[in-house]
Amino acid sequence: MKLIFERSVRGRRAARAPKWTVPTHELIAQNLLRKKPAELPELPEMEVVRHFTELSRLNFSVDTHFYPLGSCTMKYNPKACEAMANLRGFLDVHPLWPQLRHGGLLTQGALQLTYETERMLSEITGMAEFTLQPLAGAHGELTGVMLMAAYHRDRKNKKTHVIIPDSAHGTNPASAALGGYGVVAIPSNKDGLMDADALAAALNEETAGVMLTSPNTLGLFNPRIREIAEAVHTVDGLMYYDGANLNAILGRCKPGELGFDMCHLNLHKTFASPHGGGGPGSGPVGVVERLRPFLPISRVVKTKDGTFSLDYDAPKTIGYIAPFYGNFGVVVRTYAYLLLIGREGLREVSNHAVLNANYVLAKLRPYFATPTKDRCMHECVLSAKKQQKEHGVRALDIAKALLDRGIHAPTVYFPLIVPESMMIEPTETETRETLDGFVQAMIEIANQAETDPDALHVAPTTTPVGRLDEVAAAKQMDLAYSG
Ligand SMILES: *Cc1c(COP(=O)(O)O)cnc(C)c1O
Repeated sequence: MKLIFERSVRGRRAARAPKWTVPTHELIAQNLLRKKPAELPELPEMEVVRHFTELSRLNFSVDTHFYPLGSCTMKYNPKACEAMANLRGFLDVHPLWPQLRHGGLLTQGALQLTYETERMLSEITGMAEFTLQPLAGAHGELTGVMLMAAYHRDRKNKKTHVIIPDSAHGTNPASAALGGYGVVAIPSNKDGLMDADALAAALNEETAGVMLTSPNTLGLFNPRIREIAEAVHTVDGLMYYDGANLNAILGRCKPGELGFDMCHLNLHKTFASPHGGGGPGSGPVGVVERLRPFLPISRVVKTKDGTFSLDYDAPKTIGYIAPFYGNFGVVVRTYAYLLLIGREGLREVSNHAVLNANYVLAKLRPYFATPTKDRCMHECVLSAKKQQKEHGVRALDIAKALLDRGIHAPTVYFPLIVPESMMIEPTETETRETLDGFVQAMIEIANQAETDPDALHVAPTTTPVGRLDEVAAAKQMDLAYSG
């Protein structure tokens, strides 16, 4: 594809409005103006439109292709929520505007939306209170670990470490370490779950808490979760729930009722915000009653006369963890989404997410190794270890071959505890026909691994960029243009 500069021909342009005939004010001082015009490409309007439309089509996107990227998948993002987030009243609101002047017309709506979103998330998770401040899942975890530390300081507890299963998302141990704790990793048992006996052995008076994802990164729900929570509470440890992918249990069970003391959610995965390229995100954190005093300031409170205001009066708070009140635009999408689909809709989300993942798992079990014999929750993990051993075809080759078939690659080589892992999350929104298309593509690739493995080693061949040396692409970036 040509650069827009290469398509430029001097003098070509779009229709132009006639010159102004009324006097105009000088907006920019004369000495700051360019001496000669910038050397911009010159093209007719349709050429410009086509150029940028073509560019946009080089991208893989959930609007055009199936996107089964396990764990970090974008789930259902109704376009209606985008429209709500783009309403002028939400777009233009500024956090330094007065809370109550002009009868509160300026910011009362935003404060009410914030307040009600916190109430709804508390209800969904069984927590007492939420803060919307954290700007990502990992930021929510760090907030959680800081809350954990504040709680233990307040109780004069001497705590040194956090317990985390070896299947955890990598951000969990990183957050615990940033929060000043050592990390004790617990191996998974043969069923792919954190071993409750190994946990009991590691647990002692110095355990600050346990960080868990349930369902875990193998897509498995831990049936001994209540028992684990009880054991952790006997040493005054806290249970942290990584709820980045809550679509597995939405509307069916609540972390608060399973014995968890706090959790974060990824609004940019499960609650209707599209994400990519690192943002924008939102990782709100919910806590049970006894952790409420430590939440970050400010809090949105509802006063007796029904208006909303910001409250900074919290002597035990961990303070600010983000400027102002978080990523407001993301929160607007979540609010709209929750009102749009309602209580029944939330339950439908988990029903379909879990059904779809199990459908894919059942269809592909005959072709790929699977780490456990169990059913899964919202995502399933397959392994290419058979293909690798017999034909030298790795999970990476399979991921690349999917690109040639118009399907985004699944997450590969995570979770780390499964060799040649491929983690597939079909999400709640895909049709049976789309899932069948994916299954068919995976079966074709499994067959090709036997008949023509070399073809898979050079895939993809139909994408704008072919197989890259991934290390060099990251470490020796070549961004210069050479025609
Ligand atoms: C995505 C994810 C995170 C981290 O969220 P970020 O917003 O990327 O920081 C943490 N835990 C799990 C299980 C995740 O899937």
